[in-house]
Amino acid sequence: MTRIVVVGGGMAGLSAALFCARRGHRVTVLERDVATAPDGPDTAFDAWHRPGVPQARHSHKFLGRSCRVLEQEAPDVLDALLRAGAARVPVSRFDAGRGEFTDYALAARRLAYEAVLRRAADREPGVVVRAGARVVGLATVAGDVPRVTGVRLDRGEVVSGDLVVDAGGRHTRLADGLDLPNLPSPEVHTCGFVYLTRHYRLLPGQEIPALDRPLATSLGYAATLAFPADSRTFSLSVTLSTEDPMRHALRNPEVWDRFVDAVPHTARWAVRGVPEGPVHMMSRIENRRQRLAGPDGPAVVGLVLLGDAALQTNPTYGRGVSLAFAHAQQLAGGLEFIDDPYRFAVEFDEWTERNLGVWYRTQIVADSAGLARMAAGLRGERPDPPTDPFARLMAGMEDLAARDEVVGRGLGRMAHLLITPTQLLGDREVVQRVVAHLGDRPLPAEQLDGPDRAEFEGLAGVSGPMTGVS
Ligand SMILES: Cc1cc2nc3c(=O)[nH]c(=O)nc-3n(C[C@H](O)[C@H](O)[C@H](O)COP(=O)(O)OP(=O)(O)OC[C@H]3O[C@@H](n4cnc5c(N)ncnc54)[C@H](O)[C@@H]3O)c2cc1C
Repeated sequence: MTRIVVVGGGMAGLSAALFCARRGHRVTVLERDVATAPDGPDTAFDAWHRPGVPQARHSHKFLGRSCRVLEQEAPDVLDALLRAGAARVPVSRFDAGRGEFTDYALAARRLAYEAVLRRAADREPGVVVRAGARVVGLATVAGDVPRVTGVRLDRGEVVSGDLVVDAGGRHTRLADGLDLPNLPSPEVHTCGFVYLTRHYRLLPGQEIPALDRPLATSLGYAATLAFPADSRTFSLSVTLSTEDPMRHALRNPEVWDRFVDAVPHTARWAVRGVPEGPVHMMSRIENRRQRLAGPDGPAVVGLVLLGDAALQTNPTYGRGVSLAFAHAQQLAGGLEFIDDPYRFAVEFDEWTERNLGVWYRTQIVADSAGLARMAAGLRGERPDPPTDPFARLMAGMEDLAARDEVVGRGLGRMAHLLITPTQLLGDREVVQRVVAHLGDRPLPAEQLDGPDRAEFEGLAGVSGPMTGVS
């Protein structure tokens, strides 16, 4: 039995606590936010005060991989999510409208989902969740490699454990406070956009649009995304370049409504619902990777980084929770080596890099193309189709995935982290179909369906109240 101290009661911390406790370990979760999870999805979304999670009221989807991990580790939580109104949605567009499908994701508002997870952790024997407990530092003993033995809270209390898990999310920097000479520098790549979200409730008699059409579209200078959610709600999100002088205008609800009505992709959703609440906006969005081990081995032992603390990826792909759950599952399964803290640190770092690092690295490649596309769109230009062979293959795959079931299913399973990019590219049938589709022709220019840049500036150039800065 290991005594584990988890910093942060978000997606990574709560799932780690559950998965570890169910293997017989004792877990204390220290969460800085004071409020506990309210009952009921609407109350959780409307009233749960979560300043420690700035993205809490932004659109979230819960990819197939997160469902797979819950099936394996906590099927009762999956059932509770469904009872709380979360909806099963197919991973593949080719399953839309079918009653039964094997690979599925969950549709829910983030706080409605998280409240179910939190209540499960609160009830779990072996887990204690302490709300209003802010960790300000780590307690260590010196050695060839320093060992973390616990954490310090803001009121001076020390909470000790055999392992400290920093699951403090996107802004945690606890390891920096140790001043470790071998701590690798974080790797940071900006996503280059701000993220805006508004939630809606379906009008009586209305249902969400069929899910056999794409849930995201690009206008060059912007992208729009639609998210089915729980309890007859859905949300729409828009990304705009951090360089876009119009980016704050969309926080004005009137401008927002005009914009989503002008884009066919979002209009078919917006017409079915009424907006609930303000337009939320979030900036400082990045791909970020922090490791505790470098080429000379771990800089510290007795400490692991979990979830966003270890790696953050472009939120438009919706990978964060799945990566956090997979990370938590690996942590819980690997605790048999905890008596050898050095070996544990090395193996956990290597597993993370091998199995989760791939999603971080492929994201950076995809995002560099996305940044170029947004910059062209901002100048009012149409982005050039990619010419380098790999980007061409991937663009061809996306193009074909809408029509070809084999390719569509393969790409869908990769997008939901159920197979790796290497597995997808190793599928000869998929690659052969894409190569045949591409032939020697240049790729067709991307279809941009919505207001062009000048029209957007026209409809956004209105002053008025702005709301919902998060
Ligand atoms: C705009 C946006 C949209 C996103 N959309 C999606 C999506 O569609 N699908 C998806 O899977 N992922 C999405 N993500 C990513 C997802 O939100 C994160 O990956 C996920 O929440 C990571 O879980 P975590 O536990 O690491 O961090 P969090 O869930 O942020 O939890 C961190 C917790 O630590 C607490 N904490 C921090 N510091 C301390 C401290 N010192 N002491 C005590 N407690 C502390 C915080 O209060 C918080 O509760 C999105 C992210 C953003 C920014």
